[in-house]
Amino acid sequence: MSDIKTIAVLGAGTMGNGIAHVCARAGFNVLLCDLQQPFLDRGLATIEKNLAREAAKEKLTQDQATQVLARITPILDREALNICDLAIEAANEQFEIKSELFKDLDHILPPQAILASNTSSISITKLAAQTSRPDQVIGMHFFNPVPVMQLVEVIRGLQTSQQTFDTVHALSQQLGKTPVEVNDAPGFVSNRVLMPLINEAIYAVMEGVATPAAIDQVFKLGMAHPMGPLTLADFIGLDVCLDIMRVLVTGLGDSKYRPCPLLIRMVDAGWLGRKSGRGFYTYPA
Ligand code: NAD
Repeated sequence: MSDIKTIAVLGAGTMGNGIAHVCARAGFNVLLCDLQQPFLDRGLATIEKNLAREAAKEKLTQDQATQVLARITPILDREALNICDLAIEAANEQFEIKSELFKDLDHILPPQAILASNTSSISITKLAAQTSRPDQVIGMHFFNPVPVMQLVEVIRGLQTSQQTFDTVHALSQQLGKTPVEVNDAPGFVSNRVLMPLINEAIYAVMEGVATPAAIDQVFKLGMAHPMGPLTLADFIGLDVCLDIMRVLVTGLGDSKYRPCPLLIRMVDAGWLGRKSGRGFYTYPA
């Protein structure tokens, strides 16, 4: 294994708090960084709740859960990340945000540190080009909910070195995950295939082909999907789905990937799915 001991996680949202959770559970020290204290508090509260659930299922003891939580330090000042061997970025799916972060992390982190992104669709090669260490930049795409889902897509940018790939591949296994190697292309494999399916299901709602519940039932009963595409879209976040469709349509240059107007309207309305209490379904607080 590599010399990775301390991991920075950028963003304490849906994915960031899950990534911090699995890294700390595997024994790493984690610095969890977000822009505002309330975002950090919410992320830590989610981790605490999920650890309690794991303890209740006897996957770990209450003592171990307390130790896992103690390995996670909330951070507002990015400069404090200068002791990290690896940063995993899980900020919003917008190139400008990630690009600014990668430029800054390149200055802050030690020269040997690896910069990984949990991006769902943005080019790893382009993010790597924002730094002076493109050979040490890689995609590490986890799935939601991170403590539960087995897969990590490990994405090689054009300049990612074999050493960086090997380190992140081994680390993913150490986190209890199964890494799958993928090359850099818009949406990689998972979202290149999944998001057009979700987008098409939203077109079916918009055109009145069927209700969201009926569409989801078709996929659950007919294709044995554990949840239908609209339930899944609410779970992922409709804003995240829209951002990914925009990356696909721009990156692949084909109008078949254009985001459904209903998806755009729902995001404009602030109906972001489960996290905002309303999407294709409603979620009581
Ligand atoms: P989210 O909106 O739940 O969380 C994003 C967090 O990043 C917020 O707390 C925000 O304040 C923070 N942030 C923004 N700029 C920051 C900065 N400069 N420094 C530190 N923190 C910053 O989003 P999410 O669903 O967790 O998605 C995060 C990333 O993971 C995106 O790239 C997304 O595409 C990817 N992803 C999401 C899913 C999913 O199911 N939601 C699955 C796989 C990958």
